[in-house]
Amino acid sequence: MSIPKTCRAAVITEFHKPLEIWELPVPDPEPGAMLVKTEATTVCGTDVHLWHGRMGAYVQLPAIPSHEMTGRIVKMGKGVTHDASEQPLREGDRIVWPQAWCGNCYSCTIDLQPTLCKRVRSLYGFGPANKGPGLTGGFGEYVYVYPECRAVKAPEEVDPAVIASATCALRTVVHAYDRLGGLGIQENVLILGSGPIGLYALAMAIVSGAAQTIVIGAPKARLDLATKWGADHVIDMDKVKSMAERKEMVWQWTNGRGPDVVIECAGPKQAFEDGFNLSRDGARYLVIGQTDSAPSAISASRINLRQVSVSGSFSATARHYYKAMRFLQNNHKRFSFHDLISNRYKLEQATEAMEAQASYREIKPAIIYQ
Ligand SMILES: [Zn+2]
Ligand SMILES: [Zn+2]
Repeated sequence: MSIPKTCRAAVITEFHKPLEIWELPVPDPEPGAMLVKTEATTVCGTDVHLWHGRMGAYVQLPAIPSHEMTGRIVKMGKGVTHDASEQPLREGDRIVWPQAWCGNCYSCTIDLQPTLCKRVRSLYGFGPANKGPGLTGGFGEYVYVYPECRAVKAPEEVDPAVIASATCALRTVVHAYDRLGGLGIQENVLILGSGPIGLYALAMAIVSGAAQTIVIGAPKARLDLATKWGADHVIDMDKVKSMAERKEMVWQWTNGRGPDVVIECAGPKQAFEDGFNLSRDGARYLVIGQTDSAPSAISASRINLRQVSVSGSFSATARHYYKAMRFLQNNHKRFSFHDLISNRYKLEQATEAMEAQASYREIKPAIIYQ
């Protein structure tokens, strides 16, 4: 496979400013690393936060955004033979990969929670584009896959834009359900948020045998998709504004007790508080979506007095990427995952794709490469 010396990437050089198309050197993979030709990348709320300068010290400008992508291997560094699930790897294979958790620290080896690793090599989508391998964001025609990444093969029969979206939203959901210990038999599940994480959480709840699924979210187009995928009840936040009214509806559907499992996939702290207030006593409460740093109004004593188990989950490891890919492979005919991809852009339209995400006009804008 012929690999060019340079390739194009859309780069954030200044916060809030339009992205610039740069020509950047294509690096040669070190031992254990790989070079991938990007097929598709999707835009995340995180990319918008980063673009608007809200991601603090994590960002190193100039940055090639997007941590959601898939592509085909064009070159393998010395020693690469298999993926994390022991499938043989060859040039041309489509792969996905987690962040480069170090694999050597206390979190990675003793605690077995690599997503807490503090020694991760530069985070995908956060830059810098002008140091190290440079090409570490989905908005580049090629991407460098670090040796620590533990890549897994991605299914051929699934739309690459859907795979890209799954490398953030779905793998996050897989990790979260893993931490929850899965759903019990015939549990009522409430999901707060109808973005990609909420919708993937819904699909997984249905496949896991939930008795009933309820989604609270907005706008209507997203809730229509939730209904299409099989949600038993949806509540449109734009229409049902009062918490008392929402509670009455949810509790009426759940025998006057409230849902057994609540999954927060929304972001604002209000959603965290609502989820806690809507849960039944003794419920399990999974917090996945919070990006709000403001303190919560939930008094801590209510956690023990109501015996609510609250668990948090962040990012994912190869285990979750592997299961996310199997989930897509086994369920892409049952759920119209491609409906998540609200629009498809070219690399030159990177700024437009970011604006589409920033304005909530779309569920998941994608950039597709030839
Ligand atoms: Zn993301
Ligand atoms: Zn580590």
